Amino acid sequence: MTTDTAPIKSTPLSELRSEIDRLDQGLLTILSKRRAIAKQVVEAKETEHAILRDIPREQQLLQQRISAGRELGLEAQHVTNIFHEVIAEAVRSQHDHLQAKLNGSTVLTHSSSIAFQGIEGSFCHLAGRSFVSSSSKTSGTPTFIGFKTYQEAVRAVEAGSCDYGILPIENTTSGGINDVYDLLLNSRVSIVGEEKLRVSPCLIGMPNAPISHLERIYASALSVSECSNFLTGLTDCSIEFCNDSAIGAKLVHTAGNKLHAAIASTEAAEMFGLSVLQRNVANQEDNFTRFIVIAKHPQKVDARITSKTSIVMHTLNKPGALVEALLVFKEREINLTKLESRPIPGNSWEEMFYIDFLGNIDSDLVKATLADLTKLVRFIKVLGCFPACDVEPTVVERPEIAIKPKAAIVIEIKEDTTAPKSAPAKDRGYKLVTREHKSSNTIIDVGGVKIGDGNFLVIAGPCSVESREQIMSCAKEARDNGAKILRGGVFKPRSSPYSFQGMGYEGLDLLVEAGKAFGMPVITEVMTTEDVDRVAEKADIIQIGARNMQNFSLLKVVGQIRRPIMLKRGMSSSIEELLQAVEYILAGGNQQVFLCERGIRTFETATRGTLDISAVPVLKQRTHLPIFIDPSHAAGVRELVPPLALAAKAVGADGIIVEFHPEPEKALSDGPQALRYPQFEKLMADLRRIQV
Ligand code: PEP
Ligand code: MN
Repeated sequence: MTTDTAPIKSTPLSELRSEIDRLDQGLLTILSKRRAIAKQVVEAKETEHAILRDIPREQQLLQQRISAGRELGLEAQHVTNIFHEVIAEAVRSQHDHLQAKLNGSTVLTHSSSIAFQGIEGSFCHLAGRSFVSSSSKTSGTPTFIGFKTYQEAVRAVEAGSCDYGILPIENTTSGGINDVYDLLLNSRVSIVGEEKLRVSPCLIGMPNAPISHLERIYASALSVSECSNFLTGLTDCSIEFCNDSAIGAKLVHTAGNKLHAAIASTEAAEMFGLSVLQRNVANQEDNFTRFIVIAKHPQKVDARITSKTSIVMHTLNKPGALVEALLVFKEREINLTKLESRPIPGNSWEEMFYIDFLGNIDSDLVKATLADLTKLVRFIKVLGCFPACDVEPTVVERPEIAIKPKAAIVIEIKEDTTAPKSAPAKDRGYKLVTREHKSSNTIIDVGGVKIGDGNFLVIAGPCSVESREQIMSCAKEARDNGAKILRGGVFKPRSSPYSFQGMGYEGLDLLVEAGKAFGMPVITEVMTTEDVDRVAEKADIIQIGARNMQNFSLLKVVGQIRRPIMLKRGMSSSIEELLQAVEYILAGGNQQVFLCERGIRTFETATRGTLDISAVPVLKQRTHLPIFIDPSHAAGVRELVPPLALAAKAVGADGIIVEFHPEPEKALSDGPQALRYPQFEKLMADLRRIQV
């Protein structure tokens, strides 16, 4: 192609890449220096008797870094993610320092040997490497020794021929790893650590192997259950079980057959010169395995470190025995992180219960708990106490909007004590939703985000998902300003059949992608019973819109799913009808429901609907479910949305769901009510000023 214009001079790619390499090297040098100082910090903390994790100091640090980053044009989210990891790394290295001091020579060193099941490149091996390197546990690399079975690995630790062992214990797709639980019961090793690994099993094989014509796939039992959906889709292909994923890769490499493949890690592919034919073929994208690290003897955990204790117990053979045992934890407010049951060989229909809980075995609290448990069980064994691998991230509000008023106004809405006297709730067509049935407020937990816990929560996003660019931009805007959940319609209930109907499942994927990218759960509306399961597979919360409030077949179906539901009040429905409608969902089994007032039809035409603000205190009296306000659909005009949103907080709602758009004029639905970004930002700042 010829052009008249002179070619634009640009820097050659190779030069740019060299510059990137140079900068990255600088980053690594700085990180390594920072790590060295973090190690000195823990010593200084000890000398000065300072607390191990100074959360206000961490928050201050993060806020300062976010502001400094912004000056340099870096996004708040980007800076937050990086510093979360940097802080977590510093915390982990300080933990390791304390652990080494406390346990002396028994702690992991570069000359330790670590037993694992499988060969190099297996997921177990990768987890072991990550455990060793994720912190400053050792300066060198310990020796990894592979065994054919979990049992052999455990025996090697028991016999003292290996210092440590690493074993998978549970997977987020396939659940507990039974063989390992059973081995723990019958061996004399102690759990001294844990590691979580994101596992991305890939289909690997000879270069250009034809996926649809494969005849044989090698996989470990764990990979087969993690990837069952993918494997079911392959016809005329046999599955050969092998001890671990890397052995499968080795077999494919040895045979050199294009019709053979294996489910294994990308590292295994590299190790055996194979190609990745398809990335991450697990049923769930977020597929994690938790591994435990075992040693011959227990190790002590410094009291300042968040630790877990792992036990196994056999309860008495009487009704309520497990409940009684669990109440011991509840009474002391001890948080259980895992409960798994396994049959007892030789005692048919009796179970052993494996429990992990947060607490240090040397603390008086845990000692007293275990003492109480011994009175209630037939058998109890402590499997170990170890530092929890998750480091709680530091949470900061945006500095410029974290304004607290001097004194908070307390809105207290008492239970409706008059209504039941006039007519029992069940005669009014509902009972499960009432405070008579359940006096405590329902709190819904969506991936760590709590709805109805007393904190005002904002769900925000566009009316409809329109494109990747649009929803990504909205997700960033929502997240940067403190909204906790992302909204976006993909099936739109439109008054006219000629209006934009939504992007459907393609839009759902974009919404989920955006939510993941910015760390927010997502909510979207479902209009038909046929779509419920498919949408619920991906969306975190299902919305039932105003027009469907009395679509009883839809209510019955969402009553049977595991996702939380937001039920919007119909535009011509009474509060009583709303309560009857939500009763359908609770009666179906799903108790994770919250309600949303979104404006009702009245004679008034100044607004799209009339926001029935009194519905909030009325509903608060009558039901234990969280109550939201949708100021956008009530107002219909963007300028009226902020005052209604502020009123929602003042009146005691649990949160709002609000619409905004990067370019409201171009919105494919509800443009007139969409806040512009600056309006949304101001609203979020103003909301923080109201404290109820
Ligand atoms: C929506 O939230 O996008 C919506 C359609 O709301 P409503 O059902 O309240 O009209
Ligand atoms: Mn809308």
